[in-house]
Amino acid sequence: MAEGTARPLTTDGDRLWRSLMDMAEIGATTAGGSNRLALTDADKAGRDLFVRWCRDVGCSVEVDAIGNIFARREGVRPGAAPVLIGSHLDTQATGGRFDGVYGVLAALEVIRTLNDAGVHTEFPIEAVAWTNEEGARFAPAMMGSAVWSGAQALADAHARTDRSGCRVDEELRRIGYLGDRHCVPGPVRAAFEVHIEQGPVLERAGRQIGVVTGIQGVRWFEIGVDGTSCHAGTTPMDARRDPIRALSEFLPELHRLVDRHQPLARLTVGRLAAIPGAYNTVPKRATVGVDLRHPDAAVLDDLAAALESSVLAACERHGLSGSVRVELDCAPVSFAPECVDAVQRAADACGYHAMRMVSGAAHDSMHVARVAPTGMIFVPCEDGVSHNEAERARPEDLEAGCNVLLGAVLELR
Ligand SMILES: [Zn+2]
Repeated sequence: MAEGTARPLTTDGDRLWRSLMDMAEIGATTAGGSNRLALTDADKAGRDLFVRWCRDVGCSVEVDAIGNIFARREGVRPGAAPVLIGSHLDTQATGGRFDGVYGVLAALEVIRTLNDAGVHTEFPIEAVAWTNEEGARFAPAMMGSAVWSGAQALADAHARTDRSGCRVDEELRRIGYLGDRHCVPGPVRAAFEVHIEQGPVLERAGRQIGVVTGIQGVRWFEIGVDGTSCHAGTTPMDARRDPIRALSEFLPELHRLVDRHQPLARLTVGRLAAIPGAYNTVPKRATVGVDLRHPDAAVLDDLAAALESSVLAACERHGLSGSVRVELDCAPVSFAPECVDAVQRAADACGYHAMRMVSGAAHDSMHVARVAPTGMIFVPCEDGVSHNEAERARPEDLEAGCNVLLGAVLELR
């Protein structure tokens, strides 16, 4: 856009909404959500519709070896690296109509808008649909972007199976999306992903646009505490080695620890088990699954160290043996200042109330940011509800996010 000119180019919010609702017909659930689990027939139908829409607007479409779809609108400068915009089309089994699919169809709407306005960009634009972001059928989540960015080996991803033993590569072939494009990133000018926030922060703050500065780090811990099984009625309290004694000390300590690091630290005890698990038996073992998050890598390290020493000290006080194993470790991501600023300027140019924020959830952009300057845009979703058939977003917010996506792309030089 020329400097100082008044109105930025804007997208067609009604057309975007119609595309979202058309896509939501595929795998529609009775409760008003979507079920397009990765590499199912419904995922194929959603992909086919997206590819058809992309070809209709003149894009060339390529699919890589993990099934990522790249729909390309050429630029005018020969050899210029593309700008990637997109997200994912797959959903949870009881997913919503906006998580992921919004970012893909907003990318398509950006291309439609540029075509209508006769705007030619210097660089090519590729609308991307990453494979299996949700990880609901095949672990891990964010598979397509992980393989593309080099975080996961292609052969490893291909060999992953769902609960009934179906392999990723066989399912890709079956639905016609085992592509021949090499699954490696060439040079990328920049990447942007627009997504519903999946949390309540924007809504609470009364802001329409989240300028995402990064994604917080996440670490999972499997804590095991071993004691001795014995009879609940006959064994005096002072003659027991009860693992729960340790839990009842370290769990409050961990919560106090993260309370001291508010508002940024997050701790969730999502898994708890006493083994063997009978009313009248002191457990021989207890296991605790903890999800710990923080946007600052050094703080996350400190919290992790404090967690481990708290667990081991509590075990020692009670003559129990404790162990702490890291099950998942994703480092925090800081997005490229150039991309964050482009998003901010685009939001400002449109006059939207925006705020800077860190993403609480992981996204494909987490992997993309390893290899390309990356930015994200959030829009509010009702009550912060997501991964739920009741997920809702307002058409005007979706249009605003799409306008910011378009503006951010045009901010690049
Ligand atoms: Zn998503």
